[in-house]
Amino acid sequence: MAPPLFADVAGDVAVSFEFFPPKTEKMEETLWASIETLSPLGPRFVSVTYGAGGTTRERTHATVSKIARETPLAAAAHLTCVEATREEIDQIAEEYWAAGVRHIVALRGDPPRAGEKYRTHPGGYENAADLVAGLRRLHPFEISVSAYPECHPDSPSPEADLDNLKRKIDAGANRAITQFFFEAETFLRFRDRAAAAGIDAEIVPGIMPVMNYASVVKMSAMCGTDVPAWMEKLFEGLDEHPGARQLVAATLAAELCRKLYAGGVRQFHFYTLNRAELSYAICHLLGLRPRQQAAVAAA
Ligand code: FAD
Repeated sequence: MAPPLFADVAGDVAVSFEFFPPKTEKMEETLWASIETLSPLGPRFVSVTYGAGGTTRERTHATVSKIARETPLAAAAHLTCVEATREEIDQIAEEYWAAGVRHIVALRGDPPRAGEKYRTHPGGYENAADLVAGLRRLHPFEISVSAYPECHPDSPSPEADLDNLKRKIDAGANRAITQFFFEAETFLRFRDRAAAAGIDAEIVPGIMPVMNYASVVKMSAMCGTDVPAWMEKLFEGLDEHPGARQLVAATLAAELCRKLYAGGVRQFHFYTLNRAELSYAICHLLGLRPRQQAAVAAA
């Protein structure tokens, strides 16, 4: 008889969680409740995104600094090159360093107006690799960068995209976190191609639990992620059934993580969208338990 799903997990995974900076007081409450729920799982780091075009600069800074100040978590700040000179970006990085933030997720970012071609800001960093090199000159930050298992839409080819990833690692990035994807094989093949291209830094799959199917379809179209036809069928008719939708989303994300685990993956990065429950459930299935509880069990 086949062993039950997840019977093989050994509690040997490491996770990280991504949040976005809240806009309202209500969203702020949700975010902090989620951080409180997820932090006992002992994430390696939690990161906070930077709004397109640097629009959340202050809110990102405030959220990351508060995490660094008021929680035991390692806080990581996303930072993009968009609409800013090198001096301005360096200044933001200096402020993070002064606030005790030691980890930057270094990105190029997207054009400020959707649909336009990306243009380097006059006097700005040209792309993420250039930004990584700039940050390396400032302080010994831990640096994560992006990776695209299905190729970035701006890239002329998958090979050119891998070359770009290699440039970012060679410039001093410690790891890559991938864009979300829905088939485990997509990630596993990419990981193998990266290794064959001489990329030896860790590549962490970005897991997106599908909380809202329509918005995931929209986001996927923008970032070049394939939404398999079977997914549409699975979410069909669930718009008016949020509870059932959550269960389906959790099952899918859990199945994806289980396949990745079977493929040797031990690090996972969750796009939480500031909600804890789905990510918490998947971490639980992967064998993670709250730190205190785990210590008691071991004793
Ligand atoms: P880069 O790695 O610099 O490259 C982007 C593309 O351009 C690649 O295809 C690359 O091959 C090509 N390219 C770059 N330089 C050259 C060159 N010199 N010659 C030829 N081709 C080149 N966006 C936000 O606005 N805020 C966030 O907080 C944020 N967080 C993210 C987190 C993760 C984990 C991921 C995967 C993405 C995130 N993004 C975020 C989205 C990201 O900003 C976009 O995908 C953006 O379009 C590319 O940024 P990048 O850092 O991947 O770019």
